Amino acid sequence: MNLEGRFDTRCIHAGQSPDPNNGAIMTPVYFTSTYVQEGIGQNKGFDYARVRNPTRDALEGNLAALEGGAHGMAFGSGMAAVQAIFEQLSSGDHVVLGDNVYGGTFRLLDKVMTRFGLTYTQVDTGDLAAFKAALRPNTKLVMLETPTNPMLGLTDIPGVRQVMTVMGSKAVLAVDNTFATPYNQRPLELGADLVFHSTTKYLNGHSDSIGGIAITNREDIAEGLRFHQKAAGGILSPMESWLILRGTKTLHLRMERHNASALTLARWLEARKDLKAVYYPGLESHPQHALAKQQMKGFSGIVSFDTGDAERTRRMASSFKVFSLAESLGGVESLVCHPASMTHGSVPEADRQRLGINDNLLRLSVGVEDVQDLIEDLERVLKV
Ligand SMILES: *Cc1c(COP(=O)(O)O)cnc(C)c1O
Repeated sequence: MNLEGRFDTRCIHAGQSPDPNNGAIMTPVYFTSTYVQEGIGQNKGFDYARVRNPTRDALEGNLAALEGGAHGMAFGSGMAAVQAIFEQLSSGDHVVLGDNVYGGTFRLLDKVMTRFGLTYTQVDTGDLAAFKAALRPNTKLVMLETPTNPMLGLTDIPGVRQVMTVMGSKAVLAVDNTFATPYNQRPLELGADLVFHSTTKYLNGHSDSIGGIAITNREDIAEGLRFHQKAAGGILSPMESWLILRGTKTLHLRMERHNASALTLARWLEARKDLKAVYYPGLESHPQHALAKQQMKGFSGIVSFDTGDAERTRRMASSFKVFSLAESLGGVESLVCHPASMTHGSVPEADRQRLGINDNLLRLSVGVEDVQDLIEDLERVLKV
């Protein structure tokens, strides 16, 4: 695995080398299901493509290097990666889950994995005392997201690790780094055992593929997840692997612009007098701004704001011209989403209110268009 070079160089080169047969500089899409063997028990490390595929290998090496990990395992979606992580556990094991994790992650644990005997406690992992109280002797997995969606709450990753150490917990600490990306935050360097992504978002970055990845430095965890790829088969296709590889070649450039434009927009929104609240970890008014500066290099491209009025929010949502009203995030194009009715529509009303996800909230995924066009779009829409 190529771990050489600084982050920007790794984006372009890690995991990849020119094709030994012809020098092709870009990794080909290896559309093959099987590999010819020279004799019984003699192959080139590839025997069947559910287990290994050279395009997927390149992507796994690339993404692992970006997170500072030794092993990467790619899956057919972010949820397939989450499922592979849950399925490392056994009946009777307990999970501590962040209270504002991706809805699909909660749904999978709550509606599917509990049928196979997993138990869980949901807790605000941003509150270390509450987190400590949620740990049990049979807790085998701690799974959290920072920043969270759409409220942009943070969890102190080294703080969580420290609590686990003090409590003698041997649980695996897994962090969903989809929102921050390794350009801004590297959980393995902050004490996590395992980091995972929906590559569908920033890593691919062009809203044209679905995928997931899990990355670790721990040999035992990697072995379990590789076995899961082979045994359960929820692998990423060669075409998707290639698309994401193309995406990560510009990850550093895109994130630099996402970070800068989101900060500009968040400050612009905050300066207005007609909004109730603006949520962005890069704002000094964010209650965890100090922690954000400590564990993140930049604050990524998601900004949420509360207009203070549900009817106004409804009018605004359908009046954008540059932003598109859609679920998902992390692409080059700017999107706006109404979490209460879209991404978080299935979250019970009481939980939504507690988390601050009310009907007045809009979430922006700030793309890489000219930021002035984005400001003008918002300025116009705020008047409707
Ligand atoms: C989208 C998303 C997922 C799920 O990933 P899919 O690729 O849609 O399966 C998991 N976690 C976070 C934070 C996400 O945004």
